[in-house]
Amino acid sequence: MSYDRFEPMPRGRRRRRPRGGLRRHILEAIAHGFLAFSLAVNLLVLVLFFWVWPGASSSASTPPSTPLVIVSAYTPTPAYPPTPLPTATPLPTPTPHVPRIGIIAGHWQNDSGAICEDTGLQEVDITLAVSRKIVAQLRSEGYQADLLAEFDPLLNGYQADALVSVHVDSCVTFEGATGFKVARAATSVIPETEDRLVACLYDAYERATGLPRHPGSITHNMTGYHAFYRIHPQTPAAIIELGFLYHDRDMLTNEQDRLATGIVNGIKCFLDSQ
Ligand SMILES: [Zn+2]
Repeated sequence: MSYDRFEPMPRGRRRRRPRGGLRRHILEAIAHGFLAFSLAVNLLVLVLFFWVWPGASSSASTPPSTPLVIVSAYTPTPAYPPTPLPTATPLPTPTPHVPRIGIIAGHWQNDSGAICEDTGLQEVDITLAVSRKIVAQLRSEGYQADLLAEFDPLLNGYQADALVSVHVDSCVTFEGATGFKVARAATSVIPETEDRLVACLYDAYERATGLPRHPGSITHNMTGYHAFYRIHPQTPAAIIELGFLYHDRDMLTNEQDRLATGIVNGIKCFLDSQ
């Protein structure tokens, strides 16, 4: 049992108070020292904190000079590579159509045709020479041109953009036997097309030669010409009599280039009209 706790301290023992006060002072000094030490440590921590991170001192009052980088949690969806469009297969370059023309040299490789008794001039001599010039001109202008004999095997089912058979009229001497004429098949399956070919040949040949038209002498030998019925029915065809062997002889023998040019221009007129 102790007086200090359960009984008032007797007067005689009050001298001991200095001893208890000393202890309290010591304890208080220790407490104050510990408190001061704690404050010093805290202060040191704060100083170190602001020293290591200078921006922290101003973050509370002023906005940061460096904008904050916001790291978004959004992860962009990776863009899928664009689906390539189906590559169109390049179309083959179309081959430009080169018109094909057939030229029959009348009577060639078959017979002489009309003959002039006075000089022995033969129709085939003129038709072959003029036909060769026509083919040469057409080829020089880029066309396909076939030189065909009177009964050329190629005529069977022949397909072309045009066919022209070249003949010369008889060597009759009566007045008025001069001029040229053009005809197509009497039973044509493409009459309008062949009429255009005939009209073009009339106009161009007339312009090139100056010869008169002589349509009144067109016979069944022309409209029923054998080649018309051997070639392909869709091949436009015509037959031309260049002139008469007697009265037009000078033109037929000496100006064959003009004759050929007239026919070539007639064919080109027809091809251009399609
Ligand atoms: Zn003939």
